[in-house]
Amino acid sequence: MSGFIALAALVASPAQADDTSLLEAVRSADMRVAGIGWRLATANVRLCDRIEAGVGLQLHTLDQFDAGTRESARAHFRFATPVAVEGLLPDGPAERAGLHADDSLVRLGTVDIAALPGKPGSTDKLVAAQLAIAALPADAPIEVEAIRAGSPIRVTLVPVPACKSRFELELDGGFGASADGTMVQIGSGFLDDYSDDQLAAVIAHEFSHNILHHRDRLEARGVDYGLLAGFGANVQYFRQTEVQADLLSIYLLANADYPIRATVAFWKHFGPSKAGGILRSRSHPAWRDRVATLEAEAAKIEKLSNRPLVPALIADRGKPLDGDWQSILVRH
Ligand SMILES: [Zn+2]
Repeated sequence: MSGFIALAALVASPAQADDTSLLEAVRSADMRVAGIGWRLATANVRLCDRIEAGVGLQLHTLDQFDAGTRESARAHFRFATPVAVEGLLPDGPAERAGLHADDSLVRLGTVDIAALPGKPGSTDKLVAAQLAIAALPADAPIEVEAIRAGSPIRVTLVPVPACKSRFELELDGGFGASADGTMVQIGSGFLDDYSDDQLAAVIAHEFSHNILHHRDRLEARGVDYGLLAGFGANVQYFRQTEVQADLLSIYLLANADYPIRATVAFWKHFGPSKAGGILRSRSHPAWRDRVATLEAEAAKIEKLSNRPLVPALIADRGKPLDGDWQSILVRH
């Protein structure tokens, strides 16, 4: 799409880009995903039963860069500690507190960055930092010490409640998207081909799986995630979770003030070109039926003006999956 550097091309042949443009392309791609995740996670707090202190910071670590680009990254992003601010979520607590991109973190509240566990050359410290920050109290100010252009700074940020979730871009991830219960991962292929509104639709679908605890509930049913996912009793449970995630995604988008019909636009483009390939065609409903289901639900929501909308699916998430996908899917 226009306006963004074609990420896939840069990642495929980094030699064709100078290091600075590659690093900035990765940053802007990370910030697109993080920004959409932030908007969804803060607008849908009422629908989540796992809440964290939302600080509005996108972090990165020097250790995530390979040996060939590490020194360029250190200089370009001014890394002075292992974990630094890649970017700020618009109008989030960190931005309001006066933190800047490329501030290197020393301490956030009780989280001492230097003391975090993790092997050099891995993203362990970054993940440990994210988890420790997410575990800070959501209702108390957080003192932050950082290094900006070589000098120490201190600010106080006031967190806001956010659904507990991480949102990650997977470079080289193609058109893969996944949700593991606590994290949403989106392949970089989507960023080149889809608008922010359509990207939000993909992220909202994956986020819905986490909000509805689908991973735990599928495991409670003993389903097979491997080659047998499309066979036997597995099919009905996977299909039920897929249709539920489609339905909830519309509410998440509506609550975050995204256009809900972006889901339909996404599937009308993605379905014919990709649905047969990357999605398990037997464990997932046909894309035309998914479009019909999304359109029917969107028509219901468009009549409602109160926010946030909390669908009945939320109240039912504590119940075991019953495998009934037929009654919630609308045929095209
Ligand atoms: Zn899904």
